[in-house]
Amino acid sequence: MAPAADTRLARAAALVGGARRLVVLTGAGISTESGIPDFRSPGGIWTRYDPRQLTFDRFCASAETRRLYWEMGNDLFPALRDAHPNTGHRVLAALERRGGLLRIVTQNVDGLHQKAGSSPGVMIEIHGTALQVGCLACGARQDRGPVQARFAAGEQDPRCACGGLLKPATISFGQAMPERETAQAAADAAASDVFLVIGSSLEVYPAAGLPRVAVDNGAALVIVNREPTPYDADADLVLRGSAGETLGAIAAQLGLSLSDA
Ligand SMILES: [Zn+2]
Repeated sequence: MAPAADTRLARAAALVGGARRLVVLTGAGISTESGIPDFRSPGGIWTRYDPRQLTFDRFCASAETRRLYWEMGNDLFPALRDAHPNTGHRVLAALERRGGLLRIVTQNVDGLHQKAGSSPGVMIEIHGTALQVGCLACGARQDRGPVQARFAAGEQDPRCACGGLLKPATISFGQAMPERETAQAAADAAASDVFLVIGSSLEVYPAAGLPRVAVDNGAALVIVNREPTPYDADADLVLRGSAGETLGAIAAQLGLSLSDA
């Protein structure tokens, strides 16, 4: 590795390791290394299904849209359910155990942070989770597997015990962002002393607005991403590379143990 990259890694490790209120924002780039494709990338799910056909309003209004949605789930859900967290996820779980980590805000719906050992209380899944379904009438949550299995067995429009529509607990196009989680993420960004972006191109709002909130409130901004982002010029440090390798190198500098994750 070039000396300049070594120096940047050491600075990143010092910032992350010295943080007292670290807030981390993760995007698709941390989960591609677990074999989960970026939905928005070429060949991703949104090149095979038309997102304009699968808006929240259409889901509510049309049994055919719901059928399409569950059918897409047949494609997608087993890969999400069976995915394993990678080094990047494990390093973040280790940072929580070490102390000083206030929050992980994720744009991902794959639940891999929790599988790596991050506690539910530290997580904000700002786009929801694909591992559960929620009832649109009573709000009850349940695991997605059994509902997806009911669809696969021929039940075209699975319903809650209360009769309400069941929907995967992800935030769909045209669906309101979860208010409480969105507000909490902004408050955490404002309270952070170091804000670390991992594997997000910072293009999808409201998550993409969080680094601005953090920087405006005095946080140091560190960005780990393969591609340039609109915030690179505002960052104290930009590390261009794989989430797993970069976080693994930071963990090594900090002497973090990933063994019990
Ligand atoms: Zn219900």
